Amino acid sequence: MSRSPKSDHLAPVEATGTGQPAPVASTPCARRYGPAGQVESNSCREENDLATASFAERLHLTDHWRTAHAFHSSLPGWLVALPRRHVTSIAELTPAEAVELGPLLHRLSTALHDVVRCAKTYVMQFAEAEGFGHVHFHVVPRMPDLPTEHRGPRVFHYLTRPESEWLTSDRRVEVAVAIAERLRTG
Ligand SMILES: [Zn+2]
Repeated sequence: MSRSPKSDHLAPVEATGTGQPAPVASTPCARRYGPAGQVESNSCREENDLATASFAERLHLTDHWRTAHAFHSSLPGWLVALPRRHVTSIAELTPAEAVELGPLLHRLSTALHDVVRCAKTYVMQFAEAEGFGHVHFHVVPRMPDLPTEHRGPRVFHYLTRPESEWLTSDRRVEVAVAIAERLRTG
């Protein structure tokens, strides 16, 4: 748990005169900037700031997908998998992005089984909230003792609790590191 997470596969961030990272055309993230240069979503903003982000925001990076531990979660292990460029519909995914998705959801699920001992995982994708139109898959551990009233879509109870019930940032990183370790060794 004390081992430092690797960050050697982070995409380089190119500095500009404005202090803002520049879009790098050769990376899959180039489209995270809109036509006027604005950041297109909160997810793109996080992708842009990846080099300085909490490990929980980048616990697993592949060529096309980033996995984070949900920020507002009161449930340990609530993961979110996002394409690394701005995409607002699953239908917009490239074949390469789509090919990575199935194995990724499987690997995240097996890691959650091992780390938080869930009975199974839920997977959900809506991308409807204001500022969160960027495609993102919730991969949620369904714990063996999950109360009946919070099963199925009502599991979002754990993402809508007051801030006092959220995992602390330290706990979020701790869970993220454990999942990342499992992904590396599994
Ligand atoms: Zn975006």
